[in-house]
Amino acid sequence: MHFNTKSIHVGQEPEETTGAVVVPIFQTSTYAQPEVGKHKGHEYTRTSNPTRDAYQACIASLENANDAYAFGSGMAAISTIMTMFKVGDHIVAGDDLYGGTFRVFEQVFRDFGLNYSYVDTTDLDAVANAVNGETKLVWLETPTNPMLKISDIQAISAICQDKGVLLGVDNTFMSPYNQRPLDLGADLVMHSSTKYLGGHSDVVGGVVCTSHPEVSEKLKFAQNAMGAVMGPFDAWLTLRGLKTLGLRMQRHNENAMAVAEYLSNHKAVEEVIYPGLANHDGHEIQKKQGHGFGGMVSVRLAGDLAAAKKFCASTKLFFLAESLGGVESLLEHPAIMTHASVPEDVRAALGITDNFVRLSVGVENIEDLIADLEQALGSVA
Ligand SMILES: *Cc1c(COP(=O)(O)O)cnc(C)c1O
Repeated sequence: MHFNTKSIHVGQEPEETTGAVVVPIFQTSTYAQPEVGKHKGHEYTRTSNPTRDAYQACIASLENANDAYAFGSGMAAISTIMTMFKVGDHIVAGDDLYGGTFRVFEQVFRDFGLNYSYVDTTDLDAVANAVNGETKLVWLETPTNPMLKISDIQAISAICQDKGVLLGVDNTFMSPYNQRPLDLGADLVMHSSTKYLGGHSDVVGGVVCTSHPEVSEKLKFAQNAMGAVMGPFDAWLTLRGLKTLGLRMQRHNENAMAVAEYLSNHKAVEEVIYPGLANHDGHEIQKKQGHGFGGMVSVRLAGDLAAAKKFCASTKLFFLAESLGGVESLLEHPAIMTHASVPEDVRAALGITDNFVRLSVGVENIEDLIADLEQALGSVA
């Protein structure tokens, strides 16, 4: 089965008793059992729920994974992954991670005895050199946020296999339509389903997919034991989002490319960062390892903080908001908004300057998006 067919059919047979073509929201905490010690497949919703099962089956198939586990947020998913490790274990992570991931590593799991090293995962030698005898996992995002740097998943997976450590990829920015890390050798793939999977900015969630039998057993145990599960209604909303994931991503990819090209030719813009542009450092790798370049575009305006603030306040269709991956276009100012907690010198080293703006290009008509950017850039000049 191909991608769009899987997204509409896997886990989504018509409901047994009524024939309802949409998986119902099984909004129940428990299930009546016919006799002591016998049940009909479900006992308690923390352990399993038919709506969550349907969603997990569907997202697993989209990532070409055997299993998927859905959580109440992306951070709950990452935190549950961390509980697979124990005191003294070491994790090599990207140096340009989602801020919440860095925060939970440093301010929560370090206190539980896990150690972390941060490296630029676009540098294969740096990844190989950071792995030591205690290393259990390499964790990366590609593209990174907001610099959109691309790492070579296949090459890093070869390093991980050689050294006997797991590779986990946060695939939130690409979605399985554009990139399937397990096919490239990763052991775990994780999403903040709040973003492209849900796709409509109306539900928070996280998911982990894997085909690694031991990892899957551990995650299944931890999902139930720790209990950070996704609720039935949120699973239903996210499953509904998956049905149009391929359609949306195709449009996100096209619109982002058009926006990147338009901005590249605008005199009020100093630099455009988009993996789909031939001048992007990671362009060739992404062309090889993925099926698209995604909906995120970063720009450096020709101007200072005031210009960036004016631009962000002037768009009408691009809402000024954190988050990304919804049907509606958003923009944000990383230095003051999403990355404010990153120390100023680290921000400077990463290139998150005051004139830097990140766009999440939605699926609106491209003419309207470009007209909106045109008038906002005009108001800056
Ligand atoms: C949003 C995000 C997260 C965190 O997910 P939540 O659903 O907000 O908990 C993790 N990684 C990336 C790349 C994200 O964009």
